[in-house]
Amino acid sequence: MSESRRLRAPDIAYLNDVYFGPGSVALVPELLASYGVSRPLLVTDENLAALGLPARLGLGAHALYAGTETNPGEASLRACVARYWDAGCDGIVAFGGGASLDLAKLAAMMTVHEPPLEQYAIAAGGGARIKAPPPPLVAVPTTAGSGSEVGRAALLRLESGRKLGFLSPLLLPRAAVCDPELTLSMPPRLTAATGMDAISHCVETFLSTRVNVVADAIALDGLGRGWRAIRGAVADGADLEAREQMMQCALMGGLAFQKSLGAVHSLSHPLGALGDARLHHGTLNALFLAPVLRFNYEACRPKLGVLARAIGLTSAVEVPDAFARLIEELGLPRRLRALGVPREALAALAPQAVEDHCTATNPRALGEREARQLYEEAW
Ligand SMILES: [Zn+2]
Repeated sequence: MSESRRLRAPDIAYLNDVYFGPGSVALVPELLASYGVSRPLLVTDENLAALGLPARLGLGAHALYAGTETNPGEASLRACVARYWDAGCDGIVAFGGGASLDLAKLAAMMTVHEPPLEQYAIAAGGGARIKAPPPPLVAVPTTAGSGSEVGRAALLRLESGRKLGFLSPLLLPRAAVCDPELTLSMPPRLTAATGMDAISHCVETFLSTRVNVVADAIALDGLGRGWRAIRGAVADGADLEAREQMMQCALMGGLAFQKSLGAVHSLSHPLGALGDARLHHGTLNALFLAPVLRFNYEACRPKLGVLARAIGLTSAVEVPDAFARLIEELGLPRRLRALGVPREALAALAPQAVEDHCTATNPRALGEREARQLYEEAW
């Protein structure tokens, strides 16, 4: 079949099993057994491993890869896949934030696909090349942010210096186990940053130009939950009710972003590949929300009015400032310069933002000049 006649992806698809609620992490061994997995590879990061949190999974015989870094790169992916084969694994448990989940999803894919990785990227039209079913993967988020546990996409920093997206139904974890108790020990700054990622998913998918009214309803409800709970979760990390609401918000954002995202993510992704790549995805999204909403305002005013009501406001015009105030209240940085981004770097980022896979569904066209202006405004 030629590329052009290939059936496109369905507009609405909610496919993987989700187990949600305090204590649900205890289900992981049973789930693995039901998938016939006897020796899983646990993919996580050093911090969580040092805290001993993976013990909560109650795994029997398993192998460990704890090398996930912020904005993981290709070297980590290769090491993770090598660990999988060396240890004779037959399934994967992804345990951590979006970085560990995305790395594990791509590692599962690369156990059954030939390198190089880049040929499978959205930017290279690679979705159709992802064909072989990967080993079973159970995703267990320990932050309430990325929504990667229910998403068909994953991002990775490539050796070419770009942070690229990958998209295929085969990247979807077999099951997501969302236990809000796992997020209780998350420090306030990470709670705020990951929570703003979840909130930005709800905002951007709702405003995305693609038509999917099911996703719209989910995004609006998820946004309301996140908006009402994030201050409480940041102020008191032990507030399980707030943690649960934030995890719902993250899950709903992840379920909705099959509608694709917008310029907040387009601007954020190139910065996630910059320099030593320590810039946190959620922190960046938080900072771009207000400027992008002002930029998009005329192109999506009626929808912004609906969005306003979901967060207890009365009119569209109040929305951008409300997000600016929220990140200030949460103590998140409001300027790129506060994150140590050199102003000289901005010019090179703008064309990457335009080419990003999230740009096409932003409500207003984003060219290089506009991207540069938004970077300058946020600097
Ligand atoms: Zn995001």
